[in-house]
Amino acid sequence: MNEQRDEHSEKGQEQKSWCLGTWEKRTPHVRLQLVWLLRSPGSFSIAGHQVLRISVADEAQVQTVKELEDLEHLQLDFWRGPAQPGSPIDIRVPFPSIQAVKVFLEARDIRYTVMIEDVQSLLDEEQEQMFASQSWARSTNTFNYATYHTLQEIYDFMDLLAAEHPQLVSKLQIGSSYEGRPIYVLKFSTGGNNRPAVWIDTGIHSREWVTQASGVWFAKKITQDYGQDPTLTAILDNMDIFLEIVTNPDGFAFTHSKNRLWRKTRSLTSGSTCIGVDPNRNWDAGFGSKAQCGLGSRDGTPQNGFLLSFVLSPPNPLLPQQWGHVEAGASSNPCSETYRGKFANSEVEVKSIVDFVKDHRNIKAFISIHSYSQLLLYPFGYKKESPADKDELDQVARSAVEALTSLYGTKFKYGSIITTIYQASGGTIDWTYNQGIKYSFTLELRDTGRYGFLLPASQIVPTAQETWLALLTIMEHTLNHPY
Ligand SMILES: [Zn+2]
Repeated sequence: MNEQRDEHSEKGQEQKSWCLGTWEKRTPHVRLQLVWLLRSPGSFSIAGHQVLRISVADEAQVQTVKELEDLEHLQLDFWRGPAQPGSPIDIRVPFPSIQAVKVFLEARDIRYTVMIEDVQSLLDEEQEQMFASQSWARSTNTFNYATYHTLQEIYDFMDLLAAEHPQLVSKLQIGSSYEGRPIYVLKFSTGGNNRPAVWIDTGIHSREWVTQASGVWFAKKITQDYGQDPTLTAILDNMDIFLEIVTNPDGFAFTHSKNRLWRKTRSLTSGSTCIGVDPNRNWDAGFGSKAQCGLGSRDGTPQNGFLLSFVLSPPNPLLPQQWGHVEAGASSNPCSETYRGKFANSEVEVKSIVDFVKDHRNIKAFISIHSYSQLLLYPFGYKKESPADKDELDQVARSAVEALTSLYGTKFKYGSIITTIYQASGGTIDWTYNQGIKYSFTLELRDTGRYGFLLPASQIVPTAQETWLALLTIMEHTLNHPY
């Protein structure tokens, strides 16, 4: 999430790479080649890419790094965007741009470290681990929760779970993706008629794999704990839970088939060769709003960026420089990682949830889960004003974080999106809050950047376990504070 210009986020380097066909095929050792061929025909490599962590000391340095965002020819992928002084900025830098970026930073006395020396080696390890763990599960008891799974494997898991627990679990289709894949939601219900409900979604940003994997674990956990754990039992005796595990199925399929680091949807934009919309900038909450005082634009080609691009290298006429203009927390540039789309709800993956929420009319808590950064956030992202329920939301967030941390000591920060990270418009929970869903939260799961989106599979289960404690806290508070 970070939704907000996600932590990650940022400018459309990947897509541009794809558009312009600059990805190169790598030839790692034979075993890995076999893995790639078996699992991901047509996969591309990001050999030699590094992730740099930049430490900005003051607001001036934050602004300087923002200028770097506007140098589209560098094809940078901001995993964690510029926020406030003291907040790290993580950027995946393609091999050909590494020297230029390092020189840029050093010339301005901006400190950085190499956080991931070779992104490709992490991808290779992940693929090897998946390959070694591959097995066909006959039941959800033999399903391997400690590895990453494909879309089909997750969809098969949902069917198994629903078949094993017909009295508790059902699978709903709430729409079809841009490329025609079914969009499924698991409904956990012990009866009643349109009971108050909790919504949880994972994977709206497709590359945040630990979130979909955690969603699978949550689903199993709910079926195991109902009737055993008094808190969850009380919740499900009075409320329904809706869980959308793969919220961006096209993007998720693409992360398996072609580009592990794909974030957006896969929709086409007329007039652009770049693909996809950031589905966490596409909601009808501050959509396309202008920057607020003191918060810079995250987009486009401000004049200084344009001048800098002349310094480092001439502007590339193939890049859509004309798209950018000043706005807040989202981009109007289809090649940006935070492209908001042509209009609110343009993405069917978003519209399907909007329609579901409006039809249901009784959703009381809405939790949208992202990675990475270890944050628990509440509205707003698009404006500085505090929500009317700020004190209560802050209290709930504090309790949820305490519960989460109690298990493994994992530290989370909490607060509103705009004060904790940066301005972001068109985000999920701003819309749900404005719809009257008071308990609207976003989580950013592990880690804080050591692996970023490429979190080792060995951390899936611990991540899901600790996150579950935060979810339980929010759900229990919702149960005990009807409105
Ligand atoms: Zn995200």
